[in-house]
Parts: sequence; structure tokens; C-alpha cells
Amino acid sequence: MVKNVEVCLVNMPMGDVKRPSLGLSLLQAILHQGGIGCRVDYANLRFFAMAGVDMLRLLGFTRAEDQLAEWLFANTAFPDFKIDDEQFLQRLIARNSLLRKQDAQSVCDQLLGLRSQISDFVDGVARSLLESGPGIVGCSSTFQQNVASLALLRRLRELNPSIVTMMGGANCEGIMGLTLHESFPWVDFVVSGEADRLIVPLCRRIIDEGSDISVEDISTAIFSPNFRNKSAYAGLNQNNPIPRAITQELTDLPSPDFSDYFSELDSNRYRQFILPGLPFETSRGCWWGSVSHCTFCGLNGGGISYRVKSAERVAKELEELSDRYGIKRMEAVDNILDMAYFKTLLKTLEQNDYTLFFETKANLNRGHIEQLYRAGVRWIQPGIESLDSRVLKLMHKGCAAWQNIQLLKWCRQFGLRVACRS
Ligand code: SF4
Repeated sequence: MVKNVEVCLVNMPMGDVKRPSLGLSLLQAILHQGGIGCRVDYANLRFFAMAGVDMLRLLGFTRAEDQLAEWLFANTAFPDFKIDDEQFLQRLIARNSLLRKQDAQSVCDQLLGLRSQISDFVDGVARSLLESGPGIVGCSSTFQQNVASLALLRRLRELNPSIVTMMGGANCEGIMGLTLHESFPWVDFVVSGEADRLIVPLCRRIIDEGSDISVEDISTAIFSPNFRNKSAYAGLNQNNPIPRAITQELTDLPSPDFSDYFSELDSNRYRQFILPGLPFETSRGCWWGSVSHCTFCGLNGGGISYRVKSAERVAKELEELSDRYGIKRMEAVDNILDMAYFKTLLKTLEQNDYTLFFETKANLNRGHIEQLYRAGVRWIQPGIESLDSRVLKLMHKGCAAWQNIQLLKWCRQFGLRVACRS
């Protein structure tokens, strides 16, 4: 039984408050298996409690590309950088049709008011993390979590120069991870790619020996403090690309540990506004993209090779998670459903009463849709990017407009909600 918190993993705003972080919860379970005490801190939930429901609704009007969260935390992360707030807010409102329907002055006042609380918020998160005593603090950064994570890690370093800081997640892959490490000296370690097999040996080594690890003595997918000399950065180029860690075998990974999310959620003043769902993973990469990569697709980075969990393992994990947390709404984080599951997993799931979400390929047939419904799938994202076959061909989507339309009709017939990107 692991007792001391040696590693704290943090989910900063704007991490989704409606579900636990699958990546951090999985790493926590792996660290516990490796005998290392770990806690996941849901600072994103405390940010929600501070900002309030109305503010979160306002933030929800914006899109990731608006970079509003990055603007909110920028003053705290980079106090010497002077932002032209008026220009930023004017452009934000001009670009966003939902914000244009609000009173512009009120939107600006609310956002500036929220921004004025960010330094105190980050300071509070940093101090409460230090109180729990970890030697290592790591942030997961996906979408708009970069600047908030940098602000927190910087504050931690100011408060306790001996703390070891880390970043990982989709924003740290390849050149992005290298650039983060090169630009921000208060981030000690950056992991590029999937950390499942790296995290225990890395943390064990830091706990036992400190962070002074030679570049030759550490996985090539980890940028370490000793990497901070020009020759190590310069050694990575087109002929010697930036590495990315990949986990080949998924079936033997442990089930994620969501308990820290639910204990934070249960004490949140806005608990009644959140109907949580559970994320789960059956695969990584994309079986379609690995043979015909859709031209616009930026998912997966260097890890598009398709790796899938056994159907038995997925069925067992869903049952375990559902029993442990008393929740039957579950969402697959996969890029694409494995077609082999129609003969295995989906048949097994017919015996349960889950409500499930999957991303799928669009050219499914009527039998597939009917079977998805019987298995409890009520919501799919089939990647309907266009209803023009010429455009779909240019995108290498591997389906025609009539197939997309047919799929929409069958989903309507059987009662599956369809998510489409705009
Ligand atoms: S099917 Fe989806 S995940 Fe796969 S390559 Fe196309 S857009 Fe990317």
C-alpha cells in the first residue's frame, strides 16, 4: 500500500470538468503499481468553483483556437510580457458569433475581472500542492493547458527551488515538447509521446538520485535538465527526428484510478451542475490513417500505428469502472472504433446497460448501426467532414457523400446522436 505522495500530477484549467483525466488517472495507477505514491490534483475543478457557472458558460462560447485560456494565464506565466488586452478582446468578440450576441463591455469586464484573480489562483494551487509534500509535480497539457501549466510550474519553482517539475501530454509531443523545454527553464523534464512505460523508471530515478541524469542515460523521448546545452538540441534535425514514446501493448495496462477526481468533485460548490461521465480507451492510433492518412488530420502525431486492447480486457475494465464509480455513461477516447469489435466486444456489451460514445469510420452499414445501438452506443462521431464526394476524395476520407448521408439516416432511425465537426 503506497502512502506518501511522492508525485503529484495536475490537471490545470481548461481541462474538462465533466470527466476525469484519463491520461493522468492511468499514470497514477501505473505509478501505484510501481510502488510510487501519486495524487492527481484537479485544479481545473477548483478553477470552476472560483469562476462560477455563468463565467464557465461564457468561456464555453469560445473555441480552442480563440486561445482565451492562454490569455487568462499569460500575465501570471510571463509577468514581463505586456499584452494588448483591448486588441485581444476586440478580436475575440469580433471573431465569435456567440460572444457578439452579448454586451461587449460586459464580456470584457467579466473576462478582465476573472483574469485579475488568476495570479492568486495559481499561487493557491502551488501552495496547496507543496503542502502535500511531493518531490515531483507534473502537468498534463492538451489544447489550452499550456500557459496555465507553465504558470503553475513557474510559481512552484519560485516557492520551492528544489521541486522537480515535468510536463507531458499532447502539447509536448515532438517539436512542441522540445521547444517548451528549450524556452522555459523552470520545466525540468518534458516527455514527448506516451509515458506509460517511462514514468515509473523516470520518477524512481529522480526520487532516488535527483534530476541530474545524463542525456545518454535516459529515454530519448524525455528532455531532461542535462539536455539544456545547445549541442543536445542541435543534434535533433530532419535526419535525426525528435523522438516520441509509443506504448505497443495496451492490454496489460492497469485500469485508470479516478478516485481523486470524484473526491474533488464531491466537495465542489457546483457539484449539482456536473453530470460526470467516465473516459475509457480501447485503442490508440488509427487503423485507417495508418494506411491512408486523412490529409487534414493532426491527431496522433508520430503514433498513428493502430494498437488495440483485447475485447475481454475492455469489457472487464468497463465493468470494473462502472461498479467502482457507480456510473454507466462512458466515452471512448479512441480515434476510431476497431471493426473487429463488431464480432467480439459489441456483442458482449449487449448484456450491459451502459450509455456509450465512440468515434467511428463513416462507412458503416445498417447492421453496424443497429448493433451499436444494441450495445448501448447512443452517440458517435463518425468523422463526417463533408457531403461532397470530390472534397472527401481530396481528404482521403475513404468514403463518398452518399455513404455519409446514408449513415446519418440510419443513426436517426436507430436513435444514435451524431457529432460532426463544424
Ligand atoms: S480517420 Fe480520423 S483519426 Fe484516422 S486519419 Fe482520418 S481523421 Fe485522422
